Amino acid sequence: MSIIIKNLTHVYMPGTPFESIALKDINWEINDGEFWGLIGHTGSGKSTLIQHLNGLLKPTSGEIIIDGVNIKEKGVNLKEIRHKIGLVFQYPEHQLFEETVEKDVAFGPKNMGLSDDEVINRVKEALEAVGLNYEEIKDRSPFELSGGQMRRVAIAGVLAMKPKVLILDEPTVGLDPKGRDEILEEIVELKRRYNMTIILVSHSMEDIARLVDKIAVLHKGRLIKCGTPKEIFKDRESLSSIGLDIPQVTHLMYRLKERGIDVPTDVLTVEEAKRAILALVRRKGYA
Ligand code: ADP
Ligand code: MG
Repeated sequence: MSIIIKNLTHVYMPGTPFESIALKDINWEINDGEFWGLIGHTGSGKSTLIQHLNGLLKPTSGEIIIDGVNIKEKGVNLKEIRHKIGLVFQYPEHQLFEETVEKDVAFGPKNMGLSDDEVINRVKEALEAVGLNYEEIKDRSPFELSGGQMRRVAIAGVLAMKPKVLILDEPTVGLDPKGRDEILEEIVELKRRYNMTIILVSHSMEDIARLVDKIAVLHKGRLIKCGTPKEIFKDRESLSSIGLDIPQVTHLMYRLKERGIDVPTDVLTVEEAKRAILALVRRKGYA
């Protein structure tokens, strides 16, 4: 599934004293099976942008073309698009509302008019995809679960619609380190198992550097850069000028370099740093 965004501008409350231009002339192309990271300072327009990808927000001007179809055209079924392009909001657990986990996760697929058997199969599969056991959890109230479990149930509710594209708005925010790692691992597994297209909005440069293939950088409503993690993070000055950081481990490599230790500075993950430092140790004959 491909999504093409052309010259997208979004203005909130146009023509009022509260008018604010949230997105300006965005051009972005997302191809089938890609894993994107979307980064930008708070207020840069990330949440506004992703809500356009499945037609939830309408552009003030510009086009959104999904699999060759301009979604502005008459007769386009937006409901169907929302099933194919699943959006997990920030704090999605705030939207849980049914009295049992099973009913909550079943809500989406039921609305799609699927048979009862198919709905149950999807609920099971979706809960298992987020690391929850269907039999153990199905009859519990979502509101008595831990924060991490609630978030997983909410993500399962989107997965149960079997989207081709999954968009997650800061899915790990507010979770403890273990909960964060587990959710990220599950996202990677979804990508691997279903070859889903994924768009991950995150504040963690470590997570973005480690997981995604391509990064889009938003700044004050403009998409100022797209590239691989290596391309984006090699320019630490321009990132820092827009309030964004580079991964901690990359900082470390810069510091080593400044002290005259001959390590590469385009290292983005702890794993890569380990390899680079071991290679140096061997070269120098310490080991
Ligand atoms: P981000 O997700 O990157 O923090 P947002 O998309 O939430 O950015 O916000 C972009 C800009 O649009 C901000 O200036 C924000 O104040 C404004 N904005 C967001 N949502 C609304 C809204 N519902 N009404 C008016 N302005 C909004
Ligand atoms: Mg946001």
